[in-house]
Amino acid sequence: MKISIVGTGYVGLVSAVCLASKGHTVICVDSMAGIVDRINHSEATIYEPYLSEYLKEAVAGKRLLATTDLEYAVKNSEISIIAVCTPYKNDSIDLGFIEKVSRDLGRLLRKKEEYHVVCVKSTVIPTTTDTFVKNIIEEESGKKAGEFGLVMNPEFLREGEAVMDFLHPDRIVIGAYDDKSFELFKKVYEVFSGAPIIRVSLRTAELIKYASNSLLAMLISYSNEIAAISEAVGSLDVEEVLYGVSLDKRLSPQIDGKLIRPGILKYLKAGRGYGGSCLPKDVKALVAFSEQKGYVPKLLNATTEINEKQVEKIVDRIEKELSGIEGRRILVLGLAFKQNSDDIRESPSIKLVKLLVERKALVSVTDPIALENAKKALENIAGITYLEDCKKETLRFDAAVLMTPWQEYVKLLNEGNFEQLEAAILYDGCRALRKNKMLESGIKYIGMGLS
Ligand code: NAD
Repeated sequence: MKISIVGTGYVGLVSAVCLASKGHTVICVDSMAGIVDRINHSEATIYEPYLSEYLKEAVAGKRLLATTDLEYAVKNSEISIIAVCTPYKNDSIDLGFIEKVSRDLGRLLRKKEEYHVVCVKSTVIPTTTDTFVKNIIEEESGKKAGEFGLVMNPEFLREGEAVMDFLHPDRIVIGAYDDKSFELFKKVYEVFSGAPIIRVSLRTAELIKYASNSLLAMLISYSNEIAAISEAVGSLDVEEVLYGVSLDKRLSPQIDGKLIRPGILKYLKAGRGYGGSCLPKDVKALVAFSEQKGYVPKLLNATTEINEKQVEKIVDRIEKELSGIEGRRILVLGLAFKQNSDDIRESPSIKLVKLLVERKALVSVTDPIALENAKKALENIAGITYLEDCKKETLRFDAAVLMTPWQEYVKLLNEGNFEQLEAAILYDGCRALRKNKMLESGIKYIGMGLS
């Protein structure tokens, strides 16, 4: 099939290379000429495992090209997938990017005689596609929905594992305006074997995405709430509590005597809280939308409230352990919001660095991939030391905080390589380290829910 994808960021670019790898011909459209140029030179504009290899193959095989020219893309494709950003701004979702693309697509559809399907892949609040997007395209194109196709296909990929997630989806949700849209659009995914295709209404597809992200966020905040209770009780470790919870056979079934540990259990984990470009903004946008509709979602409000306190709790604890934080040397290990990603959007690490500097600590930071992105995000803050390669030097600090569980940091610390890291305190913000090993090492090992 001939597919255009508007917005070539994390979702757009990963979708493009994966669809091209399945034999589709893909045109990537982005408003940033620099991004377009780099993609046409087979250069991945973001870091994701396998992305670079798949991109090179797609460009070399002439199955993927990038352009800033939306008209060219619409003329040369049967389907346009919208994958632009949907940030949270001024207490609600900002649909400005969606509006602009919908208007542009509508104007172009006025000139196009052939049937064309518009698909919203960006995460948008329920009713966006069947009212906002539909109305704009109808107005600009002079056509009625039905004369053009309309689909909502939420994306469930996880950053850091995006390419494999896209190539091996667990579900394909297609919200369709009508049968014709659905029948054409489902061909995009017919080449993906195994995953169930669920056909739903446009607004159901939108809410499935928000409900999914809210569940993940809620599990993390639930774990952090149990961690806070563990600390209040004293002399126990939330990790043991949550492990006990996780052995419930409805969470960890035994099949043929083998214990199955489903991926969802990764979210049953206390620590520095969730970040990234999705969970924080999606939970807030759903809350705002729901309140606008007259329902106050108490559970989701509490999910955000708990999450927003986690980083401050880390700083308070370090301050207490060191009897003051001003002038103390603190090392932050990991800046990306998760491992295997260069994304620092809403990263708890960035929040931590800002708070430490505010409290006048002497902060050093390091990350194997996200250091450059972090430098840009923190450029207005003076006094931060950026360590390009933490393995090259002996690290002498009053406290070190593990914020992103990059394998190399976890390995370094789990192996007890404390000749390299000299710190009075090690705060495990991810609860990723082997507690017993840490406790034996002589370093003061602390973490969320460990008392
Ligand atoms: P992103 O910021 O990485 O990429 C968006 C891209 O759109 C940018 O390259 C930008 O230049 C481009 N763009 C903006 N307006 C444009 C226009 N008018 N024409 C052409 N290009 C335009 O965003 P992202 O992280 O890929 O997220 C995109 C959407 O997917 C969001 O709604 C997000 O919530 C959702 N989503 C993201 C993830 C994730 O892990 N990042 C996962 C699932 C869903």
